[in-house]
Formats: sequence, C-alpha cells, structure tokens
Amino acid sequence: MNIKNGFVGTIGNTPLIRLKSFSDETGCEILGKAEFLNPGGSVKDRAALFIIEDAEKKGLLKPGGTVVEGTAGNTGIGLAHICNAKGYKCLIVIPETQSQEKIDTLKTLGADVRTVPAVPYKNPENYVKVSGRLAEEMDNAIWANQFDNLANRLAHYETTGAEIWQQTNGKIDAWTAATGTGGTYAGVSLYLKEKNPDIKCIVADPMGSGLYSYVKTGEIKPEGKSITEGIGNSRITLNMQDVPLDDAIQIDDQECVRVVYQLLRKDGLFMGGSVGINVGAALALAKQMGPGHTIVTVLCDGGGRYQSKLYNPQWLAEKGLSPS
Ligand code: PMP
Repeated sequence: MNIKNGFVGTIGNTPLIRLKSFSDETGCEILGKAEFLNPGGSVKDRAALFIIEDAEKKGLLKPGGTVVEGTAGNTGIGLAHICNAKGYKCLIVIPETQSQEKIDTLKTLGADVRTVPAVPYKNPENYVKVSGRLAEEMDNAIWANQFDNLANRLAHYETTGAEIWQQTNGKIDAWTAATGTGGTYAGVSLYLKEKNPDIKCIVADPMGSGLYSYVKTGEIKPEGKSITEGIGNSRITLNMQDVPLDDAIQIDDQECVRVVYQLLRKDGLFMGGSVGINVGAALALAKQMGPGHTIVTVLCDGGGRYQSKLYNPQWLAEKGLSPS
C-alpha cells in the first residue's frame, strides 16, 4: 500500500523533472524539482510544515492557537492549509501588490487576510514587521517569522536537499535557485555541499534584488525592478547566513518571461514567474559550464497563481514584455 497521511503527509517527495527543451538546447541535463506538485501548490509547504511542527515541539503553539505570518502568498497558503488540517487559526499579512489569485486563495482557505501597502523592510509598516507586531499582541499565537526562523531552511536541508541528492544518485554539478527567505537555496546548498564540496551553488537573482551585487562585490545594491513575486531581497536573512555562495546570476524580466513561455509551449509546464528566473539561471549556467553537466533548480509554483498577470497578454504588453 502506498497511501499518504492527509495534507501534511503529502508534502514533499516531489518528482525531479528533466526540462527537455532546455536540456536539448544546451547538452546539459537541466532538472527541475517539481515543488508545484506539493498539496498546497508550492515549495513553501515544506517550510510551513517545519515551522509549525517546530513550534509545536517547543510548546509554543497550543491547541486552538493562531499562526501569524507576513508572506508574499505561498507561505501563507501552505500555513493556512496546515492550520486547517491541524485545527489552528491563521492570520496573514500580505503586500497588496501580490497577485489577486493568491490573496483570494488565502481567503478561501479561511485565513484572516490583511493586505498592506508594499513598503521597504526598513519601514515599520512593512508586511513582515506588521505581522510580527500582530503576533506579539495576540494570546496563544506564534509568529512564523519565515525569513529568520531556521526551521525554514532545515526543511530544505532535511527534505528537498536530501531528495535531490537521492534522485540524481549524487550526479549533480550545480544547483541554482532564487531566494525569497533563502530557505530553499540555503537548505539545499548546505546539504549538497556536505555531500560533495565540488557541487557549485549559485544564487539566481531578479532585478530589484540586492543579492547579485552582494555575491559579486560584497555590497547589497539593488538595481531595477521585477514582475516576479516571492523572490529577491535587500538584506541577508538569518536563513541566508553562512551558506555556500559560489556565484550569482542575474536574470531580467524579459528573459524570465521568455523562459516561462518556452516551458509552457515546448515542455508542457505551466509555471509561476520565479521559475522563469530559476530556469533562466540554469540555462545561463549550462552555457557557462558547457555540455555534459547536470544542473538542478526548483519549479516553485504553478502558473495558475499568475493568470491575471504573467499569462495576461495585455498586462504583459503594458509592462513592455513579450513571450518570444
Ligand atoms: N518562488 C516563489 C513563487 C515563492 O513564493 C517563494 C517564497 N517566497 C520563493 C520562490 C523563494 O523561496 P524561499 O523563501 O525558500 O527563498
């Protein structure tokens, strides 16, 4: 019998997919960890589960309690599902710039959703800081604090990283991923480097994020902006501290859009925007490294969450972006 135990038991153990058109084009094996197949639809289900179970183990989250979080959407969706499955309440603070699809999903899942203006982290009204204050003011509530809670990267060290190692039989030359909290990148990088220090760990970065310049020059200097959601950062989170950073690759929105439409039209994969940055970086890396290498990245979530933006021709045209 091969039966999974409820929502929680269905998180993880996702397939590793060979991205055919990109692999054929470069002579490399470009592989995507299919995180959009998690039951909550994204890579963030893993972090949400580890954060909640860590708080349970520490006795911080008690029956009937509330999980509070500031999120670009996917962590909130993961948390809201797990809260339903475990009998907790969920309060989500989300910047109003995030896709309506994610905000609507959170409401459908029963979360108490507070949208706030998108302001930089240094502003006290930033969504992350608002969520921290709300959690402090409430009884029997925890702040998930995904950016600086190391249970986040531990999820990816213990599960995502270990699965990738096993699925490739250790035959992997490079790993690349964009970072939001950095949990996925950090956990997988730490696991893979421990297994084989020769595996290159490369940060993929959208425009408007400061990590590319940080890796290249040591200075966090964001330039430009991006249509992608859930990735990019202008600070080094606790999850990103003391992690392998062999190099960084910057991918702009036009390349991101071209890549997601190639995935859609040639590979049959309907993916979210951060996947365009990740696969775009894997493609650039394959060209740098030359044929014969195995490069792994992550397919964070599906395209349905961005139907009104990335997959809306009029919206794309207004941004001056085109699928080809
Ligand atoms: N892609 C998407 C669509 C996301 O929502 C997130 C998380 N915010 C990421 C990538 C990055 O994941 P992490 O927080 O583990 O860096």
